[in-house]
Amino acid sequence: MAPYSNLEEYNLEITDEVKNRYASIINEIGENVTREGLVKTPERAAKAMLFLTQGYKQDAVEILQGAMFKEDYDDMVIIKDIELYSLCEHHMLPFFGKAHIAYIPNGHIVGLSKIPRVVDVFARRLQVQERLTHDILECINDTLQPKGVAVVIEASHMCMMMRGVQKQNSVTTTSGFRGQFEKIETRNEFLKLISSNLS
Ligand SMILES: [Zn+2]
Repeated sequence: MAPYSNLEEYNLEITDEVKNRYASIINEIGENVTREGLVKTPERAAKAMLFLTQGYKQDAVEILQGAMFKEDYDDMVIIKDIELYSLCEHHMLPFFGKAHIAYIPNGHIVGLSKIPRVVDVFARRLQVQERLTHDILECINDTLQPKGVAVVIEASHMCMMMRGVQKQNSVTTTSGFRGQFEKIETRNEFLKLISSNLS
């Protein structure tokens, strides 16, 4: 047996249903789903879609609660440049970019890898960037109950880049602040830290 294997499991019934629908879509747009390059496409597309929307069945609160540790540290903890990939709920096209998240502990810290996982749980759904920002913010705020939490997301939207207004270089920024980050000095310190390159 391999020392490590990362198994992917798909619900066969759901995969099959989604696969059949993708096959119809491919035919409807004027393609031939039986030609060699496309034969397996409906199944691959179905699995990709189920992967990209797996967040509906995941519990971000549980992820955070599983790695909370008592600690007296009460300065700002910042995790910046968290890669983010989501699907816009209006066109089901990707939007992608970076999340920058900070919190000020209130007796508890959380395992650092859990913050990016919380981002993924909410990003792997049909989203709008505004709600994604708030989902992450409220989840950390309610679960960790820190002295403050801040979330900034910068993202490019394929639905703007490939269709519609075709603006290739625009980036949308959304942000949310709770607790001590509602104070202008704390917020500015955070914004300064995420925009500086320490290295
Ligand atoms: Zn869109």
